Amino acid sequence: MNNPDILVIGGGIAGLSAAAALSSRAKVAVLEAEEQVGFHSSGRSATMVHYALGDRLVRALTLASRPFFDDPPADFTETPLGHRMAVLVHAREDEKQALDALEAEISLFARLERLDAQGVHELCPLLKDDARHGIADRNGMRLDPHALLQGNLRRVRNNGGELHTGSKAARIERSQGTWKVETERGERHSASILVNAAGSWADAVAMTAGVQPLGLTPLRRTIITFDAPQGTRLEGLPFAKTIGDELYFAPESGRLFASPMDEMPSDPMDAQPDEYEVALAAHRMEERTIVKVGWIHSKWAGLRTFTPDRHPAVGFAADAEGFFWLAGQGGFGLQTSPAMAGIAASLIGGEAWPAADVTAEELSPGRFLAQHA
Ligand SMILES: Cc1cc2nc3c(=O)[nH]c(=O)nc-3n(C[C@H](O)[C@H](O)[C@H](O)COP(=O)(O)OP(=O)(O)OC[C@H]3O[C@@H](n4cnc5c(N)ncnc54)[C@H](O)[C@@H]3O)c2cc1C
Repeated sequence: MNNPDILVIGGGIAGLSAAAALSSRAKVAVLEAEEQVGFHSSGRSATMVHYALGDRLVRALTLASRPFFDDPPADFTETPLGHRMAVLVHAREDEKQALDALEAEISLFARLERLDAQGVHELCPLLKDDARHGIADRNGMRLDPHALLQGNLRRVRNNGGELHTGSKAARIERSQGTWKVETERGERHSASILVNAAGSWADAVAMTAGVQPLGLTPLRRTIITFDAPQGTRLEGLPFAKTIGDELYFAPESGRLFASPMDEMPSDPMDAQPDEYEVALAAHRMEERTIVKVGWIHSKWAGLRTFTPDRHPAVGFAADAEGFFWLAGQGGFGLQTSPAMAGIAASLIGGEAWPAADVTAEELSPGRFLAQHA
């Protein structure tokens, strides 16, 4: 199918979930540069669904996405999309005010439990004694990104859509009301609507198409895995995060994973962990917990790509007909993907708007063009 109605560039969670949502009413094809889906950000995340991320808009998109994860549609039930994992945000005595403020904000979206020092250590015995206060969301969730990506891909294919891997869009032009895309390998595709879901490369794709970029910034983040102290009961452990953006850790396949929550600006690329951030993760883990990080079992890095205001950009470009932005999912692209895909299907296909507390204006890519005008 080289002439679908809608051509999606990017086979990460953004592109595949939008393609799945659009495929019930339109012929959809996805072009992915790599040989496999989810090779970049979508396959390297911490995979949590929680409300300590972002601000009101991000929380509203997360809330609107939650029913999808709790009660997935039929084509997503082959493998569970995730499992419950409590989320604990903890604070030292001098950080209590910041925790109070976050509690007030998150309480609008989730049922929280306020914990004293004893409650914090009962939920997470690995924390040092200076963790004195906490808020816990027992309804947090850890996603299986593979199940999520494959569920979306299954839906695309069940609806007659296609995925082309190893298909990097290299030339993009609009002529006679149609977007014409040629891949590096010389395959040609055309469609009246082009969805730009190219993650860290979304600005580059726009410029290839002659569309004004939004000013996206990819920020690298690092994760390490290592052994927990002998005798640690991993099953009950929460995803534990400092109130400031310093450290999070959680159980991971019989071990622990941790991130120093680094945000190092990067070009779009196959991100690799830097030794400094790997050491920082181990250092902060030892600073905040009783864990001694010995041998680092594995490490990886991925890019979290933000717009200038850290809200995603979803909607048609103001400066190019039929060019649809689906970019800037930052550090929340998995947990907001059902709502974001639904919004794409609403703006492109006229489906019902899926997120009551979010407006199209807030997400409009045009807000960045207006700033530069
Ligand atoms: C360490 C880390 C922790 C995170 N933790 C969380 C979390 O706990 N919860 C959460 O919800 N999110 C989290 N995220 C964020 C989440 O992973 C991202 O927001 C999400 O994966 C972005 O999805 P995407 O599809 O936009 O990007 P990607 O997955 O990067 O997909 C974009 C795709 O576009 C393709 N592409 C680019 N250019 C072209 C082209 N010219 N032609 C064809 N294809 C092209 C790329 O190959 C890529 O596969 C985390 C991210 C990181 C790195």
